[in-house]
This record gives sequence, C-alpha cells and structure tokens, in this order.
Amino acid sequence: MKFVQGFVLAFVVALLPVHMACAANGQKKTQAVDQAKPSIEYVIHVKDIPGQIVEVDATFPASGADTTLYLPVWTPGYYVKEDYKKNVVRINAYDKSGNELKIADAGGNRWTVATPGIKELVVRYALLAKERSVSRNELTSSYLVLNGSATYITVKGEESLARVVVLDLPKGWKNATGLKRVKHGHSYGYLAENYEELVDSPIMAGDLEILEFTSMGTPHLIAYNRGAVAVDNEKVRSNLKTMVDETRKFWHAKPWRKYAFLLAFRNSGGGLEHAHSTLVNLNPERFSTAAGYDSFLALLAHEYQHSFNVKRLRPLELGPFDYESTPTVSTLWISEGLTSYYSNLMLKRSGLIGTDGYLDMLSKQISALQNSPGRLKQSLAQSSLGVWSNSNSGIGASDQTVSYYIKGEVAGFLLDAHIRKLTDGAVSLDDVMRAAYAKYSGDKGFRPEDFTAVAESVTGHPLKDWFDKVVESPVEVDYSEALGWYGLDLQKAEEKGKQKLTLYVLKNPSQKQSAQRLDWLGRK
Ligand SMILES: [Zn+2]
Repeated sequence: MKFVQGFVLAFVVALLPVHMACAANGQKKTQAVDQAKPSIEYVIHVKDIPGQIVEVDATFPASGADTTLYLPVWTPGYYVKEDYKKNVVRINAYDKSGNELKIADAGGNRWTVATPGIKELVVRYALLAKERSVSRNELTSSYLVLNGSATYITVKGEESLARVVVLDLPKGWKNATGLKRVKHGHSYGYLAENYEELVDSPIMAGDLEILEFTSMGTPHLIAYNRGAVAVDNEKVRSNLKTMVDETRKFWHAKPWRKYAFLLAFRNSGGGLEHAHSTLVNLNPERFSTAAGYDSFLALLAHEYQHSFNVKRLRPLELGPFDYESTPTVSTLWISEGLTSYYSNLMLKRSGLIGTDGYLDMLSKQISALQNSPGRLKQSLAQSSLGVWSNSNSGIGASDQTVSYYIKGEVAGFLLDAHIRKLTDGAVSLDDVMRAAYAKYSGDKGFRPEDFTAVAESVTGHPLKDWFDKVVESPVEVDYSEALGWYGLDLQKAEEKGKQKLTLYVLKNPSQKQSAQRLDWLGRK
C-alpha cells in the first residue's frame, strides 16, 4: 500500500494545471466538457524519459463484480495483428479512495479487475515506449509519439463513452493532435467523443515546431520534432496548403474542426491515416534530398487523401471497429489503390509536379505490376481479403500475391479512362468517387457491389464486366484503351533483368487526345 499513497498524491497533482497548454498551435478556442456526461479520463505523465516509460492514470465508471479491461490487437489502417499489451510493464487498479483492487491478467489482450460495489475505477499503468512505428509509442529526450491502440486501455462495453486526455509533459514541451482541445477542471484536455475517436487520434509532443494554415474553413497544423533536420518551414507550409486546397476542392469538402500533420523525423518510415490527422515517419537524411522531398509530398498527399477515402468514404467492414478482432474486407484496392491514384493526381493538378513527374510515378506502378508474377495468380479482391496473412499490411507482395496498392492504383488509371471513353468525356472516375462519398461517407459503409452500382449509376453504363475482369480476376490488364484516350504510349525497355515500362505523351497526339489528357491531368 506504500505505492498507493504515492499514487493518490500523484493523481491529485495530475489534476492541477500541468505543462500542457500550447498556445501557439491553433487550439486557443476551447470548449468545456459536459460535466454531466460520465467522461472517462486519461492523465498521461511523461516523467521517466531515460527509461522510456509513459505512465497513464485512467478513470472509468465501473459496475458489476468484475470489470474487463483491454488493449486493442490492431490499429485501423495498419493491417497487422499486434501485441500492445506486452509493453504494459506495470498495472494496478484502485477505487476512488485509493484502495487497491485485485487485477488479474485475463490472457490475450485483456485484464480483469474485481470491482464489487465499485462505482469508479482508477487504473494506473506504465507503458514502455521505445518502438519507432506509426502504430506504436516512442519517448525520447526530445519527443513523444503516442498512438491510440498502443496507449489507451479501456473497459469492455464502455467504448461509446466520451473521454478526455490530459497531458502532464516536461516543462516547455508542446503538443499536437487532431483531437479537440477543451477546458477540463483547472486545466485543459483533449476530448474524444468515444473510444474510436481516441484511438484514431495520435498525439505528438516535445520540442515541436508548429505551423498553421487554413483551407476551406478548416484549420490545419503541421507539427514536427525540431533538431533532426533543417526544414524550410515556408516551403513545407505552402506546398502542403497547395496539396490540401486541391484535395478539398476535389471532394467539395465542408469544414472540419481541424486537421493535424504530425511529422516524426526519425529513422523509420511509413505513415498512417486518421480522420483528423496523420502520423508519418520521415527519415531526416532522405527528407533533405530532392527525391526524398518529393516522396514526402507524395506520402502526405496519400495520407491526406485518406481522410476522405477510407476514413469517411469507407468499406462497410471498416467501422465501427472491433478492436479485439480484425476485419476482412475485399475493397482495400479502393481504399489504398484509388487513394494513391488520386493523391498523385492532386499533386499534378495543383501544379506541385509536372506531367513528366506524374507519368513517371504512374509508370513505376505499371512496371511494378507487370514485373509481379502474382498478378496472374491473385485478384485484387483476394489480395485485399488476404491482407492479414499474405503481406505486411499490403506491402511486400510475394510471387503468389499482387499488391492492392500497386494494382489498385493502375486499376484507377484504367477505370478512369474506361469511364471517360464510355461517356465520351462527359463523366470521369472523379464523379464516381464524389457520388460514392456523398452516399457512403459518414455512418454508412459500402459493399463491393455498392461501389460498382454507384459507378454504373453515375456513368449510365454497365460496368460489372470491367470489375469482374480487373478486380475479381487474376488476368493481365489491358492498357490500350487508356493510352488511346489520353494520347499516350508505353515504352518498353529491359533494366536489370526486369521490364521497364515508361508512359510518354505521343509525339503527334490528336487535338481530342490532348484535350482529354488536359482534362484528366489539369492545366497547371
Ligand atoms: Zn494508405
């Protein structure tokens, strides 16, 4: 019980004003938490930086003789089953007077707490934070990256309850997240309407640079850890605003409360999408090169495109989530492949890259597909269904599998051209995506046949044969229709034993082809 006394004191201290206000990060407007609501609270203490330990005090309503606690087994968007529980190095439970309660490891990702007659349960736990991943946690002397599934233990059955996160950070540390900042007690916290929103909202803290801009009524912030690399703030802010403006214009976006680009400069890669933010890993050395900067823009455009395609327009199976079991979905080619197709088009249409740059990106995907033996063995739909077992979240296809990122992007190129040709340029895949967004974003999700039906309805043409061939079958795709429509050709060469396919604009395209290409790529 010695620890409990210390705990009660620490808990009271945690509720006093802590070093969390970040007046420079565009979150000055606050809103009081509805005190009548049974909010769950997480207070996050960052005190043991050398040990890379993050301590969490979580308060939950309790009822019944036992309460089941759990950590998720996956992070939405990252299709890998994970063991977050292994990083919980200490866990204790108390009633609100500080009396210790019996807590037992219930196996798997769960714990059970004896809570007879208990109305409020306090769980104090310590997390080891030394993993450099977009789905896990890392604490260093200069920054903290916190991801929802790896951080927030919750009570089974209370997922719909609102909750507040209070940050107790080292003096001088700033923080950034897509969550809404609210007044909480004598201090401030971040409000999540439910567990899903909390899990979907990574937090970055530390010695951060925070830049801001607004696009179509929505404040955007860019936060990154300082000191790892020299960043041209004005260039980054201006380039991201250009990309964001183009993307929001494409989707006819209404304002959201805010959006946060969380950039972790560290020796790791990858990015993960969230509804109001993205967390990306950026290798500092690579970022400093011209090619690395282009990849950075492409990665951020991809993750931002996801805030529309997959976080709002989503497959039926991808929400509401069951964090203790993993969903099976056949349309990740739409959620990932079409995201890449459109994010690269946003870079082109906004003028951030030119026609050659865009065709080069698409050529790389076509070459990758045509060099992949798995394209003739596995369909796009099967690739998506098998994501949990056949790759690392869709990356790294084997000889037997096809990547839904790569073939999905190529499918976007082919479907867009097919629709344009069918309708003599009156309709494009852009219209299909926006119609699907209008119909299936929000609380509804789409089934594969729903997406086909929207495409048929918008174009006024049957498309089932196209989807059967390109999505449902592992057969060779045909580029001739798209090449002919846009006035392009594919140059074939051999490079290191592999086919190198390069898209190029015909020397003498017809006026019609040139106009159709401009309509597709934009005029900038
Ligand atoms: Zn993605």
